[in-house]
Amino acid sequence: MSMALSFARSAELQRRAERFLPGGVDSPVRAFGAVGGHPPFVESAKGAYLIDADGNRFVDMFGSWGPMLLGHAFPPAVAAIREAAGKSASFGASTASEADLAELVQRCYPSMEKMRFVSSGTEACMSAIRLARGFTGRPFVIKFEGCYHGHADALLVKAGSGVATFGIPGSAGVPAETVMHTLALPYNDLAAVEAAFDAYPEQIACVILEPVVGNAGTILPEPGYLAGLRAITRKQGALLIFDEVMVGFRLAAGGAQELFANELGGLPDLTTLGKIVGGGLPVGVFGGRAEIMDFLAPLGPVYQAGTLSGNPLAMAAGIAALSALLAGRAEIYPKLERTTAAIANGVARLAAEQGIALTTNRVGSMFTWFFTPEKVQDFATAATSDTEAFARFHRGMLERGVWLPPSQYEAAFVSAAHGDAEVELVLEAAREALKA
Ligand SMILES: *Cc1c(COP(=O)(O)O)cnc(C)c1O
Repeated sequence: MSMALSFARSAELQRRAERFLPGGVDSPVRAFGAVGGHPPFVESAKGAYLIDADGNRFVDMFGSWGPMLLGHAFPPAVAAIREAAGKSASFGASTASEADLAELVQRCYPSMEKMRFVSSGTEACMSAIRLARGFTGRPFVIKFEGCYHGHADALLVKAGSGVATFGIPGSAGVPAETVMHTLALPYNDLAAVEAAFDAYPEQIACVILEPVVGNAGTILPEPGYLAGLRAITRKQGALLIFDEVMVGFRLAAGGAQELFANELGGLPDLTTLGKIVGGGLPVGVFGGRAEIMDFLAPLGPVYQAGTLSGNPLAMAAGIAALSALLAGRAEIYPKLERTTAAIANGVARLAAEQGIALTTNRVGSMFTWFFTPEKVQDFATAATSDTEAFARFHRGMLERGVWLPPSQYEAAFVSAAHGDAEVELVLEAAREALKA
């Protein structure tokens, strides 16, 4: 692999973008602020590879931040989008495709008795919270430090990844009044949850969490944690919301709810999904128990709407992706497990040989190499990572043709299009990058 990639054209495009867009981007982490250097501008992608404006080819290890489970330009999704586009991109009226995709989602997520489609994960989480508050008639929300649930005002408290990367406590522009009903507690700490319910009796509407955290880097729930949350919320009359926007369809076809089925002690009341469910197009969905979902307008008093919600192109892409997943699940998930284990463990071994302290957290096809010797089980331990070392590693890998997520506090993703050849390329690049 060439050591001397040119990024000249991308640098030019970045300068041009900066004239029109703050930081040259439409989502902050894309600017590479945490790792330095010019972000490559992408021209196209296919399978496991990204091609940039300078003609460089990268093994994609962030998968558009999650959606690209089946690889880029997945042919059935491309065909479905083309066909739908020919029939007009939007109607603002119902189409059969919405119930078609809902049926596929429900086959993966039986807990989602009814659901509503929106256009992003942010919308799904924000709407689920409003619904939980409307249903219970209570104001408070418990979330966890390092968990990200989109950028709605009330949820932008100790929200991991982008926010952590930029060292902003929450965000400017969010009035204290807006977050006064948001309680941010440490992850993997049931005693903190009990204490919050004691402090605010019958005032907490819901507990929302990433059942496997991806937005502080990958952090797993300790044994008993998810079941503990289920038991506490049930006892307290609060709703339990699994935000599976990232892990949905990734950890298993039924996400965390399928992966941890035997240890949950009951299903969540509401679930939010995004990313993979749209096959690469902008889709989010929230759903759960029918009696709760029927609180939504037009049946109930909780308002929620969207001009492009259930968009026919997005539904078509989602149907193509989920159909392929369901048909191929017996091969897809074992392959993801093998490929990702080979990459994650292979690089961990190379780091150990170099005497570099690395903690590798992985579930299926998502993982993080934390540059710390400590066990990472919450945001505080994730924050012990040497982010400078991560930044050097990121640049070293990029220069060797491997594009990792550009922050220590983000999960890396492997797709079904990744195989032995990509494992080789990543390990080869890491051998040299770790040395350097
Ligand atoms: C990405 C993400 C969101 C937000 O989704 P957007 O589509 O970016 O608005 C919410 N929750 C989790 C867990 C996510 O990973």
